[in-house]
Amino acid sequence: MSQSATKFVLTEEEQQKALAWLNANDVGKCPTCNSSQLEANPTLACLPTANTKGVVSLGEIFPCVVVTCAKCGRMQFFSAMTIGLMTKTEEGES
Ligand SMILES: [Zn+2]
Repeated sequence: MSQSATKFVLTEEEQQKALAWLNANDVGKCPTCNSSQLEANPTLACLPTANTKGVVSLGEIFPCVVVTCAKCGRMQFFSAMTIGLMTKTEEGES
């Protein structure tokens, strides 16, 4: 994977790859206003996870591409791993 992904910042090329992935998987339109003017934020978001006791921990996180609708502002989160911008083998990186 590219170095920019491990730093949780996407290059312009990676942002375009994320948007292309959305279109290729039939999620390239805003579910709120149906606009196709979606933008991938250059900075990844990281969702913290909860353990089996419900305690939120920063030990494991889910890296997410933040996609914002330019028309209505709805924000959606997509797995950076599913899109192919990161792999699980990079866990342990900080
Ligand atoms: Zn929208």
